[in-house]
Amino acid sequence: MKAFAYVSPTTAKDAIAALKAGGIVRPLAGGQDLLARLKDYVETADTLVNVKQALDATVTPAGGGLKIGAAVTLDALSTNPHVIRMYPALAEAAAKVGSPQIRHQGTVGGNLNQRPRCWYFRQEEFVCFKKGGNRCFSVDGENQHHAIFGNDGPSKIVHSSSLAVPAVAYGARFVVAGPNGEREIPAAEYFTLPTMQNVKKENVLGDDELLTHVILPAPGHIRSGHYEVRFKESRDWPMAFATVVVTMNGANVASARVVLGAVAPTPWRSEAAERALVGKPLTQATAEAAAAAAVEGAKPMSQNAYKIQITKTAVVRAILEAAGKRA
Ligand SMILES: Cc1cc2nc3c(=O)[nH]c(=O)nc-3n(C[C@H](O)[C@H](O)[C@H](O)COP(=O)(O)OP(=O)(O)OC[C@H]3O[C@@H](n4cnc5c(N)ncnc54)[C@H](O)[C@@H]3O)c2cc1C
Ligand code: SF4
Repeated sequence: MKAFAYVSPTTAKDAIAALKAGGIVRPLAGGQDLLARLKDYVETADTLVNVKQALDATVTPAGGGLKIGAAVTLDALSTNPHVIRMYPALAEAAAKVGSPQIRHQGTVGGNLNQRPRCWYFRQEEFVCFKKGGNRCFSVDGENQHHAIFGNDGPSKIVHSSSLAVPAVAYGARFVVAGPNGEREIPAAEYFTLPTMQNVKKENVLGDDELLTHVILPAPGHIRSGHYEVRFKESRDWPMAFATVVVTMNGANVASARVVLGAVAPTPWRSEAAERALVGKPLTQATAEAAAAAAVEGAKPMSQNAYKIQITKTAVVRAILEAAGKRA
């Protein structure tokens, strides 16, 4: 690994100032993604700014919802009684990440900002679009874990954050702080589809900014469900997953949000699936109709058409969980 300077500020203000140290400066949280990238020479850095002491590591009530600090660990998130009660899909997504060690070390900020797991991206030798090159190796190469939606752009990654999907489904807002103060961004607008102009990034965060909080709105009378399809006994990232959030009007769905994970470069909202739910009771038949709608328009690559079926399975099971009917 190339040598780098290390600073460990104790306030968010000092951490943001430290991002201006000059050269390539990166915020360091749990380090599980960033340090692996540096060790593998996927990238280099001149300075790392430890943000674990500088950023909030608490979950606090806010406006009937919750305000979650970026330094909260995945373990603390998944075991927090308020998160479990109010936003169970978020707690479940955090609880399913990797292993206990990874959840104790990994943070909310690091998870939401982790870089792609595309195996070409992760190997020094493959200088693809994301690393300033002029091709995507997955097109003619190994693409079984790549996108089936939103893959018209230069990069075909799937977003690697499990938390991003329930965050979008629950209508979270991300608080971002920079030299000019704070701004709030709806989670759905934080993550970006790749274009030639922005292909080296996965979100709208500036190099001089930090994600400081995730704000979850008051849940009201929502019901939610979350289902991840994974390799059996695997600690790896899910192959496809879904978070479903609904409100009910009597026995029928009044409003729905269906967000898919591991299928696109961003959390992928399916309005077709949402339309298939609204006005209907939460039955197996409705869930299957919504799942069929969710995969309409999928454009699998040469090796990932299998994701269509497992995405449907994830949607059906997430809906049935929201209905309290999953076995
Ligand atoms: C075997 C294994 C399995 C895993 N499985 C899953 C999984 O199923 N689902 C899943 O979601 N994740 C999974 N992960 C990733 C895990 O969730 C890590 O916690 C996460 O990738 C990085 O968190 P971290 O705090 O260690 O971040 P770091 O490595 O410190 O940072 C990650 C990136 O975010 C940036 N960053 C960190 N904090 C901030 C901030 N506050 N503002 C702006 N930028 C910031 C860093 O500069 C870096 O680029 C897995 C990891 C491993 C090793
Ligand atoms: S999918 Fe993206 S990260 Fe992977 S090789 Fe193609 S451009 Fe690079």
